[in-house]
Amino acid sequence: MTGFPFTEAMPIRFASDLPARTEVVVIGGGVIGVCTALFLARQGVPVVLLEKGRIAAEQSSRNWGWVRVQGRDAAEIPILLEAREHWQAFEQQIEGGVGLTTCGVLYLADKAGHIAGYEGWLAEAAPFDLDSHILSKAQLTELLPAAQPLWHGALYTPSDMRAEPWVAVPRIADLAREAGARIVEGCAVRTLETTGGAVSSVVTEKGEIKTSSVVLAGGAWSRLFLRRMGLDIPQLSVRSSAMATAEMPEFTSISGGDSTFSFRRRADGGYTITPAGFSELFVGPDAFRSLRDYLPLLRQGGFDYKLRAAAPAGYPDAWGTPRRWSADAQSPFERMRILNPTPNAGALARLLYRFRQAFPGVDTPVPKATWAGMIDAMPDVVPVVDRVDALPGLTVSTGMCGHGFGIGPAFGRITAALVQGDDTGHDLSRFRFDRFRDGTPFQPGPTI
Ligand SMILES: Cc1cc2nc3c(=O)[nH]c(=O)nc-3n(C[C@H](O)[C@H](O)[C@H](O)COP(=O)(O)OP(=O)(O)OC[C@H]3O[C@@H](n4cnc5c(N)ncnc54)[C@H](O)[C@@H]3O)c2cc1C
Repeated sequence: MTGFPFTEAMPIRFASDLPARTEVVVIGGGVIGVCTALFLARQGVPVVLLEKGRIAAEQSSRNWGWVRVQGRDAAEIPILLEAREHWQAFEQQIEGGVGLTTCGVLYLADKAGHIAGYEGWLAEAAPFDLDSHILSKAQLTELLPAAQPLWHGALYTPSDMRAEPWVAVPRIADLAREAGARIVEGCAVRTLETTGGAVSSVVTEKGEIKTSSVVLAGGAWSRLFLRRMGLDIPQLSVRSSAMATAEMPEFTSISGGDSTFSFRRRADGGYTITPAGFSELFVGPDAFRSLRDYLPLLRQGGFDYKLRAAAPAGYPDAWGTPRRWSADAQSPFERMRILNPTPNAGALARLLYRFRQAFPGVDTPVPKATWAGMIDAMPDVVPVVDRVDALPGLTVSTGMCGHGFGIGPAFGRITAALVQGDDTGHDLSRFRFDRFRDGTPFQPGPTI
């Protein structure tokens, strides 16, 4: 096996100098931070993007690369439709492209009851006139001839896409740099300083930058960062494991999966195959604190995380991770440059068994790399994208709930507009920062 490519062994590619002052600082070099910086830079706004490890080395390279409208919350559908346009533009604008392919997405119903869930989602999505539809068992056999007829039917969206997570976000970061964004890898932000209750500077391990405008796009670390500022969101992170196979003949180009496993073709001729419905929550102080917030999701059946004892040292919600630190001392973000969880070997072994069961005529996949990522989850399965009233100057764009890669370019564009006080073109009320604490009941999004 060659191993997962995004580790601390990667050379630093982005090493701009830190300016004494700038208009906007973006914290976090995943898809959200990179796209925010890109859209700001394109509008001529001086912007500095700070990443504690390497661009895209956490979730934004570890994902399956599905760019799907299928199964999305109704409030996210128009945003995902916008994101598709950005992905198409990136494919044109970036030399070598981002591996964008309109491959279609298939949800395979291994229980008859899943079809009713798909129909429920189709009813919610009806106003958007998508090409999503239900396939009968016979139609599915025609579409996926290599598979055993194990499933009752499927939900299918032919216009859904995939892009290549190992290349896409670093290449978008190149675009952002060309547009004028300063990007600094290996530079953790420790905290923010305030003056008169508003953001006045960003304190990094390499010095301070004066600014009145900060975007927090810290993925699984956002809650820890906010807590140091006296702010809270009920964000938790869950481990999700994956495997890349070596090159193998194409048995389908469609990205699909049922409640036990998923598959997608990669541009290098292999597949990414993964256990599905298998997210692991390491129980830590934040998990306890958030129990009540997750009750509605639990009742809906969407809280299907496998509970694990304490997280390894240095994880955002590990018992030993400091919640308070001084601005002039090392912070938890420097101690864990790249959150690189060990994948669950048992789950990956079961995955191969399940794959062979479903596709008995297909060559047995040969693992090329295995890895895991920590998905940042929210109790209502939609992100927080909002300006923070309690701390003027701070905009938060995080909690992407396992689907930030596909939708990321649009949320980046939207976050850039929010920072500047411009009309975003979308109704963002579902993504409010205060929604868990202002007494309004919240409804979990679809978990089909
Ligand atoms: C296994 C797996 C499969 C997935 N599959 C899909 C999929 O098919 N489709 C899809 O749309 N989404 C998928 N996702 C989810 C998607 O990858 C994420 O939602 C998305 O990448 C989140 O982007 P982000 O920019 O918010 O966070 P991240 O990519 O995690 O980036 C956050 C960055 O912030 C940095 N950071 C944090 N704190 C600081 C600090 N204080 N100072 C400096 N830097 C800091 C971190 O180092 C990190 O690089 C999947 C995720 C995983 C793990």
